[in-house]
This record gives sequence, C-alpha cells and structure tokens, in this order.
Amino acid sequence: MGHPAILTVDDDPSVSRAIARDLRRRYGEHYRIIRASSADDALEALRDLKLRGGRVAVLLADYRMPQMNGIEFLEQAMDLFPHARRALLTAYADTDAAIQAINVVDVDHYLLKPWDPPEEKLYPVIDALIDAWQATGDREVEDIRVVGHRWSEPSYQIRDFLARNLVPYRWLGADDPEGRRLLDAAGVGPEAIPLVVKADGRALAQPSPSELAEAAGLATAPDRDFYDLIIVGGGPAGLGAAVYGASEGLKTLLIERRAVGGQAGQSSRIENYLGFPDGISGAQLTDRARRQAGKFDAEVLTTREVTGLRPDGSARTLTFADGGEVSAHAVVLATGVAYRPLVADGVAELTGSGVFYGSAATEGPSCAGSDVYIIGGANSAGQAALFFSRYARSVTLLVRGDSLEASMSYYLIQQLNKIDNIRVRTRCEVVGARGDGRLEAITICDSKNGLTTTVECGYLFVFIGAEPRTDWLGDAVARDGKGFVRTGPDLLRDGGRPPGWDRDRDPFYLECSVPGIFAAGDVRASSVKRVASAVGEGAMAVTLVHRYLEAQ
Ligand SMILES: Cc1cc2nc3c(=O)[nH]c(=O)nc-3n(C[C@H](O)[C@H](O)[C@H](O)COP(=O)(O)OP(=O)(O)OC[C@H]3O[C@@H](n4cnc5c(N)ncnc54)[C@H](O)[C@@H]3O)c2cc1C
Repeated sequence: MGHPAILTVDDDPSVSRAIARDLRRRYGEHYRIIRASSADDALEALRDLKLRGGRVAVLLADYRMPQMNGIEFLEQAMDLFPHARRALLTAYADTDAAIQAINVVDVDHYLLKPWDPPEEKLYPVIDALIDAWQATGDREVEDIRVVGHRWSEPSYQIRDFLARNLVPYRWLGADDPEGRRLLDAAGVGPEAIPLVVKADGRALAQPSPSELAEAAGLATAPDRDFYDLIIVGGGPAGLGAAVYGASEGLKTLLIERRAVGGQAGQSSRIENYLGFPDGISGAQLTDRARRQAGKFDAEVLTTREVTGLRPDGSARTLTFADGGEVSAHAVVLATGVAYRPLVADGVAELTGSGVFYGSAATEGPSCAGSDVYIIGGANSAGQAALFFSRYARSVTLLVRGDSLEASMSYYLIQQLNKIDNIRVRTRCEVVGARGDGRLEAITICDSKNGLTTTVECGYLFVFIGAEPRTDWLGDAVARDGKGFVRTGPDLLRDGGRPPGWDRDRDPFYLECSVPGIFAAGDVRASSVKRVASAVGEGAMAVTLVHRYLEAQ
C-alpha cells in the first residue's frame, strides 16, 4: 500500500503551488501530496485514489472557489474518505463560512491565508490533523473489500453495517472481473457471497455481524467483568449517557446490538438539533459522539445484543444473546424503538432487495434515474424524500392519512413543496410488492375508493412508525401495555411504590421499578421522541446514577 495522501485544492494556481510546495517540504517523505486547481479535479483524483485502494489523511480546501465552494467539496469528499481530516482555507476571516464549515462538514480547522511562516501557522495545524487521522484506526480497516450481489439482503446488511460505522470499504459485484478474481483467490464460488476480504488478505465468507465488526476493527467483547455503569443501546440516549458517565469518572460500558447511532444514525439530515443551524447528518453526529465517548475512555461494543437483565444483590447483571454475562453497579436502558414491519404480500421476501426500512443512505447513488416510493407521513419519511430527490427521477410519498400537516413538521412540508420531483399521495396504502429477485413493482390501494393500482418501482423505503423491542426484559422491570419502560412518577400508583421496591424513597425520575436500573430516550414510557431529548435523558440518567451510587 502506498503512502497516504494529503490533498490540497485551490483555484488560484500560485496559492495552490505554494501550499503544495510547503506541504511537500515537511510531509513529502511519508505522504503523497496531491494538488488540484478545482473541486471537480480534486474529486476526480479522490475517486481514482479510492478505486485504487489509496488512503487520504488530510483534505485542505480553499473556501472561495468557482462552481463548487470548499464546503461543498469537503462534503462530497467525505462520502469517499469519511476519516480524512478536514481544513478550510480562506483569504480573510469569514465567520459565516466558518460556522457553515463546522456544521456541515465537521471541519477540523479553519486556516487563514497567508500561512507564512508555515512552521508557525501551517505545520502545527497539519500535524494535529495527521495525529487525529492516525488515531481513528482508519489505517487498519480501510482496505476491507466486500464481494456481493447488489440485490441481496445479506450483501446489503454488510454494506449498511460498514456504512453506519463509517468503516471505509470497497464494494465489488460478484460478476465484476475483480470480484470474480477475489472469489477465485479465496478459493470459493459465488455461493460464498457476501465475501469480506480484510486488508491482510484474510477472507470471510458470509461473516456473522461480530466477525464483521472484528474485521472492521470494532470492539465486540468487554475488557472487564464489572463496571460502574453499563448502557444498553448506542443511539443518542446511550451515547449521551456514555459521554457523561465516562467523563464523570464512571467505568462505563456501552453495548450496542448493531451499529452505534440508533435511529438518529439513519437520518440523512437532522435539522432541529441545537447548535447545528445547517443541520447535521445522523452519521456525522454519531461519529462525533462515539469519538467523544472514546476520548473519555468509555468502552463501546457493537454487534452484541443484550437478552437478559437481573439484579444480583447490589449488582445488576446483563446476559448476551450468545450466553456471556457482564455486571455493573447501575444500568441505563437506552434501547429506543425499531421500525414496525410492513405487512403486505411479497414485502418480506424483497426486503433488502429493493424494499428497505429506514432511509438506507447507502442506496442513494444507486437510485439515480429511478422512481422511488416512500411510505410514511412523519418527519423521518419527509427527510428521506428530500434525500432521495437528489438522486432519483421521482420520489412519491405514500401517506395513509388525509394530509401531511398532522404528522410532519411545517418546515419539512415547506421544503418538500419546493422540490419538483417529489409528489405526495394521501389516503393510500401499499398492499403488495413483487419482483424476480429484486423489487420491480408495488400495488397501492387508494383508501378513498378501494381501487388498487400497480406501479413499476425499484426502490421502496418504509417509515411506518416504530415500537420498543423490550420483550427480552420480561418481568425484570415494569413496562406499559406497548412495551415502553415505566420510570419515576409513572411507577407510582395511587401514591404507592412499585411492587418489590426496597428503598425508603420514591424512584428517581428516570429510574425503573428496580433501583439502580434507569431508562432514557425513546424506550421510556411517555418520552419525547427527539434526538435532543434522548441525549438530554442520557445525561440526566448519569446524574441519577451518581445519586443512586452515593446512597448505596
Ligand atoms: C430516519 C429518522 C430521522 C429522524 N430525524 C429526527 C430529527 O430530525 N430530529 C429529531 O429530533 N429526531 C429525529 N428522529 C428521531 C430520533 O432519531 C430518535 O428520537 C432518537 O434516535 C432516539 O434515541 P434513543 O437513543 O432513545 O433510541 P434509538 O435511536 O432507537 O437507539 C437505540 C439503540 O439501541 C440498540 N438496541 C436495541 N435493543 C438492544 C439490545 N437488546 N441490546 C443492545 N442494543 C440494543 C439499537 O440497535 C439502537 O442502536 C428521527 C428518526 C428516524 C428513524
């Protein structure tokens, strides 16, 4: 593998030459310096590098460039090299650009021209960016190659998992010459796909989620048997609790059954989270939160599902799906909710092969030129419609109710109305899906007159509400009729405390029917289903854990 790259793009040739010269002088021995004089050229160079398995440590972009500004460039470059660190160059202090850069592309530095002397103004910045890049672990995992079929659920699951964990990988179709070569080299046939080939050449046929996580360099086993705090679920509530728990000195473990980020990780753009006036993608918010938790030494496990919880004297013990156990003084349940399945003929068989739950951001570019259908009338469906309208020929939102007004935020409805290739069909339901190996058509029933129509459709994204998946809790803690976990005041019936409660105080606000077990975020009965409230409850749960531990 060659040297990693530092790419610089500036439309002013003299600036471009000067910065490349300064970079080469200091970093030329260990890094390949790539210079481009337009954003398009730079993206072309990055695509080429990606195809050849290259690595990018730092992207340095001029802000004011014609056609595409530095922020737009960095946003697109991040799709190719999400781990590359990013800096923006400007000729003068431009606060708006800086704010936009921080919010849209999570820019790491904002550099002013001229940068003379480079020893003082440029190199310290680039050194810090390189350190940050090296710390991401990017180097070990970025050569993962996945050989699969475009229209197969297991192949989709692998791509989705890697994308959600921001693990760079190269996708190869099993019919492509290079895909076939890799299958041959691994000594297997097409029946072995999806095949994952690690950087060291080790091939895994149809890897389990934990094998995949390990191949991607993600932790799957706890370092110890006992913690101060264990958090179940790696969505915003769980990540919030992990950041606050670990930063306040608690030995903290977070266990996530798939990839961290939860529902928020699937959001193409969260527009209403405080502090991000231009919105932020769920993947970026999650990546930042995970890094932040790691900075404070919280352990984060992925692909481990918790299937049991019991009090063990003063300890609280959790059981994993594969039988292992781990205990703590206190537990925060942050398992959120999961999509309700769409019950209609043919849908189950085509899930992952054209039918997707959630916005499946990996599918965006593949939808180019297609007619996309989205079921749902809530904000999540609206966001997905905006996202896919950038790629698809048309996007049709299929809504069961009379209008969007009752279920979607006003700002989103306004945005949808402004986009020509988005249509909204109300009072209708999808009653069937068909296709030979991949989705080809769906049948829609118009509830106004009961008539059904079948339309050609390659992509159907389903957003029809969600439910907590808390059956595994059994009677361990009290839940309401829908499975949401009851906490605090919700547990007090006619002033009485929950059965078996053994403290001479009422349960704390987020505490469950067993002392020392807390719930935060969407899984909690009567919670507000928002990213900000989930994060807030995660933080608040940690304060209550401290209170609980002090009284032990
Ligand atoms: C597409 C979409 C867009 C959205 N957009 C917005 C928005 O713009 N603004 C906004 O405020 N809100 C938005 N929301 C809602 C918001 O994302 C949720 O309210 C928030 O994610 C809830 O966080 P949470 O941590 O409670 O749960 P979740 O995000 O649901 O996370 C729960 C996590 O727990 C894990 N888990 C579950 N069971 C187990 C188990 N047994 N063992 C281990 N792990 C387990 C799950 O895999 C999951 O990762 C959106 C939701 C969706 C789906």
